[in-house]
Amino acid sequence: MICAAQVALDVPLTRLFSYAVDGGLLAVGERVFVPFGHRVLSGVVAGLEEVAEGSMTLKAVQSVPRDLPCLSPEWLALCRFVADYYHHPLGQVIATALPAVFRIPEVFTPAQPPLLYRCDDVEALLARLAARATAQRRVAQALAVPQTAASLRALAAPAMRWIASWLEQGWIEAVPETAMAKGKAATNAPVPNPEQARAVEAIASAEGFVPFLLFGVTGSGKTEVYLQTIATVLARGKQALVLVPEINLTPQAESAFRARFPQARIVSLHSRLNDSERAQGWLAAMRGEADIVLGTRLAVLAPLPRLGLVVVDEEHDASFKQQDGLRYSARDIAVYRASQEGIPVVLGSATPSLESWRNAESGRYRLLELPARAVPGAALPELRVLSMRRAPQRDGLHESAIAAIGRALDRGEQALVFINRRGYAPTLACGECGWSASCRHCSARLVLHLGARRLRCHHCGYELRIPPACPDCGNQDLKPLGRGTQRLEENLQALFPGRNILRIDRDSTRRKGAMDAALEAVHAGEADILVGTQMLAKGHDFPRLNCVLVLEADSGLFSVDYRAEERLFALLTQVAGRAGRREQPGEVLVQTQFPEHPFYAQLLQRDYRVFADRALSERRDLRLPPFAAWALFRAEAQQLDSALEFLRTVKQCFVPEPGLTIGDPVAATMLKKSGLERAQLLVSAENRQLLQRALAMAEPAMDRLKAGRIRWSLDVDPAEV
Ligand code: ADP
Ligand code: ZN
Ligand code: ZN
Repeated sequence: MICAAQVALDVPLTRLFSYAVDGGLLAVGERVFVPFGHRVLSGVVAGLEEVAEGSMTLKAVQSVPRDLPCLSPEWLALCRFVADYYHHPLGQVIATALPAVFRIPEVFTPAQPPLLYRCDDVEALLARLAARATAQRRVAQALAVPQTAASLRALAAPAMRWIASWLEQGWIEAVPETAMAKGKAATNAPVPNPEQARAVEAIASAEGFVPFLLFGVTGSGKTEVYLQTIATVLARGKQALVLVPEINLTPQAESAFRARFPQARIVSLHSRLNDSERAQGWLAAMRGEADIVLGTRLAVLAPLPRLGLVVVDEEHDASFKQQDGLRYSARDIAVYRASQEGIPVVLGSATPSLESWRNAESGRYRLLELPARAVPGAALPELRVLSMRRAPQRDGLHESAIAAIGRALDRGEQALVFINRRGYAPTLACGECGWSASCRHCSARLVLHLGARRLRCHHCGYELRIPPACPDCGNQDLKPLGRGTQRLEENLQALFPGRNILRIDRDSTRRKGAMDAALEAVHAGEADILVGTQMLAKGHDFPRLNCVLVLEADSGLFSVDYRAEERLFALLTQVAGRAGRREQPGEVLVQTQFPEHPFYAQLLQRDYRVFADRALSERRDLRLPPFAAWALFRAEAQQLDSALEFLRTVKQCFVPEPGLTIGDPVAATMLKKSGLERAQLLVSAENRQLLQRALAMAEPAMDRLKAGRIRWSLDVDPAEV
């Protein structure tokens, strides 16, 4: 008998691959390099078996780098669960979870241990910097709290050059992350209000797996509940995993955590890190050296040997669901992980996902409520819905909205105008013949970007110079149709001459560090009116912002996607949450063409419960999730017919069963994208167990389809259909 290793490789095949192990010891969980075809691949040993000598001719494991400690059986079990649930090859799940440096057949040699930079006397440092060096001053200010290189680079791209020179002058110091224990005292925690205290107490005293839904209005102090609960977790010598949605918020959250827990080792994991930083953070998590792991969705797959608590902040956020490759929900995996570990998990939101809300209603999750804003005196803002029908308006802005912005500015405050569409106008059109600019590769309009003098497709990136005349009829008077952030910026500038208008969207913040610079400008009071997309809706705390205007919200009400209304409710609640976070009362205005729509009545009631009750009863009647479990097959091809044909063969892989509905293949709502035509097939089951069983039964037949040339994917619990 000889020993063979079953290796999980990053290839699109469900099975493991056997390799002979020559002599040396090899354990399950070890990273190995193996020959595969003409290449060498990096894989992970998922199992060991005895095979009869000579029964097979096995290739041998080529080498064992030992740069990654052996992955634990618990971690491999987590990956197996994910592979089973999402019907994705184990090797690709492991590859998704591992940092890039451990996915390639090269030995990883860590650079020096990561350093934290800090300054004991920020005032003195600032005094040495030129008054006009705003980016340098921003970095200097951040050093009041120990900062990683990644966070500093996020603040200003050249930050590490300045840091090097400040270090040389002895103005700041660099400490290895591991030596932070003798850090400064923690910043004072506010005294929790009774609701916060109750929540902290409930979570901290939970024994075993208890899922909590922390339902707290915006500004109710959910973060404080996380911090105080984590303090109890650290005191017990356990690790805490905190998932946050938006990449832009990670440095902010990191600073808050470092200020509160100067003695703890905090590691952040998100896509802005370079490969080596991510690998080192991951290793610190895996070795149990990191006390708090703070990250975006990918952090949910980090190995954490002494995990004591999982927190998912803004649990309803769409960014927790990965939309390509392994289409996992980090929130769902977080809950599963907590159940495996027998620990509490806290899902926090002002507008919980309807899935989580239903779980709280049915008693599966324990509901904790924070019904009021935490800062004494801060009330929820006043909300008004402005009907645009036959209303007095200028440039598409309601007169009362213009007046409200004017009043806010006169008081020396800021206003935010929110429109969820970037660019100048959604398209360019000809009034003579009806032509409008559309993408040649997608079923989509081309968006007008006036500044760049381009028409751009927001789906595939295709772009064109603005044509001088209509390509169909030669009319030279082409008109922008509708409005995006850039046009809004222009309108507002005309309405409020002399005021500073700051636009924050994906175009204005493309440059590294631009987002943080913009946020800094808002805090410094350099902007009077902010114009922004949903990038601005989440989490940010602008003390001087008391007036928010929302434009073009209606599109969410008439979408083909059954989740659109839920998202709109969450979005408007978040946007409204930006206003009046301090003593001054805030004002939120929403413009609509459909003021009589029940959605707005519910929004005006300011009661998520009322909305959730109606939305859930509609879903129950229509058998939509969470009252059904869905899996969506997507296929794309040059011709729609081939995609449909492929999905028909997929359909045949399923065995009919009561409670299971296999739909018919249909064209996708947006038929064409990046030159390919797309189709989809929906599988719906009464519950998750039934869906999982059906998918598992179909798997062997589906495996045989994988050899084909069609690009396809399976999305379990799809976020968008
Ligand atoms: P949420 O995450 O629920 O939107 P935050 O955690 O951001 O709310 O808290 C909003 C504000 O309230 C923050 O400025 C925070 O410092 C403050 N805060 C939280 N808890 C308290 C408290 N118990 N007393 C006073 N201020 C508090
Ligand atoms: Zn024309
Ligand atoms: Zn396109």
